[in-house]
Amino acid sequence: MRKMRKMRGPKQRRTCWFCTHGIEPDYKNCEVLRNYVSERGKILPKRTTANCAVHQRKTAREVKRARHIALLPFVAENIHT
Ligand SMILES: [Zn+2]
Repeated sequence: MRKMRKMRGPKQRRTCWFCTHGIEPDYKNCEVLRNYVSERGKILPKRTTANCAVHQRKTAREVKRARHIALLPFVAENIHT
């Protein structure tokens, strides 16, 4: 258990990749979406992705779509460590 200190202030910019690049999350763009899921196929939380609320929601939706047409894996449950 580690304490995670939240850095808040003007020094840390929370830039949304989609806003920066002026594009919208798209299920066809699985190369981009892949950056927003963990190794196990889970959608990363907003605090990790630094997306804005709008794009985080869109990303989650597009990831789900991408899963549906098998561009991205579902959560891998059969991994035994
Ligand atoms: Zn954004």
